[in-house]
Amino acid sequence: MPARTGKQVIERLRTQPPELWLEGQRVEDPTSHPKTRNAVASLAALYDLQYQDDLVDVMTFKSPSSGHLVGRSFMVPESKDDLRKRSQMHKVWADASLGHMGRSPDYMNVNVMAAGMAGAYFDEVDGRFGQNIRNYFEYVRENDLALTHALTNPQIDKSKQANEFDDPFIALGLVEETSEGILVRGARMLATLPISDEILIFPSTVLQGGDELRPYALGFSLPNSTPGLRFQCREPLDQGRSHVDHPLGSRFDELDAMVIFDDVIVPWERVFLIRDVDRANQAYARTGAVLHMAHQVVNLKIAKTEAILGTLQAVIDMIGTGHYPHVQEMVAEVIITLEIMKALKVASEEQATVNEYGVMTPARGPLDAARNYYPAVHKRLMEILQLCSSSGLIMVPSEADWTGERSGDISKFLQGKNGSAEERLRLFRLAWDMTISGFGGRQSLYERFFFGDPVRMKHALYGVYDRSAYVDRVERFLADDTWPQT
Ligand SMILES: Cc1cc2nc3c(=O)[nH]c(=O)nc-3n(C[C@H](O)[C@H](O)[C@H](O)COP(=O)(O)OP(=O)(O)OC[C@H]3O[C@@H](n4cnc5c(N)ncnc54)[C@H](O)[C@@H]3O)c2cc1C
Repeated sequence: MPARTGKQVIERLRTQPPELWLEGQRVEDPTSHPKTRNAVASLAALYDLQYQDDLVDVMTFKSPSSGHLVGRSFMVPESKDDLRKRSQMHKVWADASLGHMGRSPDYMNVNVMAAGMAGAYFDEVDGRFGQNIRNYFEYVRENDLALTHALTNPQIDKSKQANEFDDPFIALGLVEETSEGILVRGARMLATLPISDEILIFPSTVLQGGDELRPYALGFSLPNSTPGLRFQCREPLDQGRSHVDHPLGSRFDELDAMVIFDDVIVPWERVFLIRDVDRANQAYARTGAVLHMAHQVVNLKIAKTEAILGTLQAVIDMIGTGHYPHVQEMVAEVIITLEIMKALKVASEEQATVNEYGVMTPARGPLDAARNYYPAVHKRLMEILQLCSSSGLIMVPSEADWTGERSGDISKFLQGKNGSAEERLRLFRLAWDMTISGFGGRQSLYERFFFGDPVRMKHALYGVYDRSAYVDRVERFLADDTWPQT
């Protein structure tokens, strides 16, 4: 099948819905449910962009197996230019949500691509698994499926390992191997975008132990509509308000859900790794998946920072504060953040190298810098938007107010320096939804944690970054008192 249209995305979700639980009730049809349909529509709109006349060459490429036009994020990059082309695709999808849909499907597409190309890695676990992951990559690409994923165990008692609970199947674990496949039971804490087609349980990086954790070393995939697989969603942030009142929340609440596996059989052809703790822990790094995902992320964060900068400047222009030096300094801070992220993206592409599976892989150094830098700086960006918008962020009456009986008051007292009250309110509603609304609050938490715990990410960077040449240089300098000769 060629790259999907939005209509096809909706049709598949309607006919093969995941078992979503929301506000105490099962969502029978996520494409029509009032709290999920807008996010589904936004997801579908991303897929429609694949066929927009001026974008089709950016968004798609010719499948090496079927010859169909398929999604660009499934392309196996062979050159630095391929990575740059893929960036353009990521950017189109990211800009569509002003960078506020963290888990647009290209994030997982590049994960599947990298894993599919690293079949030999999974063969090291079991000779069947390499072919399974190769087939899965082709299946997802040729059907243009949207995936979610869930890495972490339920957050119950972090001082214990998964096997130390009275019930060893609180964390998702392997119960037994059967002739049909593996029987799995338990839960994973969080999957964003449960309104998707499939879930990939890629070997996670959280197993801190030895053989006792073998049942928790798992890699597999399943359709989200598999019987026994349930998604317990958080409270929705789409409150059914208009796009004017909640410009982001009413469109881009991709949802987060706990994933519960109630004795689910994973067919053998969908199993990629079992019982191998070391290979589970190294899978993201060794397959290169983490770098391709980080490359998607850096594009997404550039789009988000551009949207924040655009909103900030529009707010400043709307209330006439651009002449204050400290306001200018704050805008400069956002510009610097944006340029750093752009530079890290370019550096990751320029310094890319071909990995052991023949995939041109963006460089780790710049991407590690980007994914450690952005969570810290995002909170400053939100602070700047708040400091520059001040009470304007709160004095944002709803659409019903400014079209209602007292609209005259609003037109008069809430007009802007360079725009009408309507223009001003639309703009400040956007700034509000970016920063302090429920949707904005979730975005802030997302930025802190979506790629992992910032503390452990920095520890990991400390562990892998080679500083030896710099230490040697300093030691040589200290040891040589003869230079320069006077
Ligand atoms: C909005 C949102 C969306 C997300 N979407 C997804 C998704 O789609 N898929 C997915 O797989 N995950 C997702 N995540 C989860 C994300 O991967 C985790 O939040 C992240 O890995 C941190 O794990 P945790 O939440 O279990 O935190 P915890 O591990 O419970 O950490 C809590 C606190 O304890 C500290 N801590 C815990 N253990 C250690 C340790 N060993 N060493 C040092 N400090 C420690 C942490 O630093 C932190 O301060 C999402 C998270 C959020 C907030």
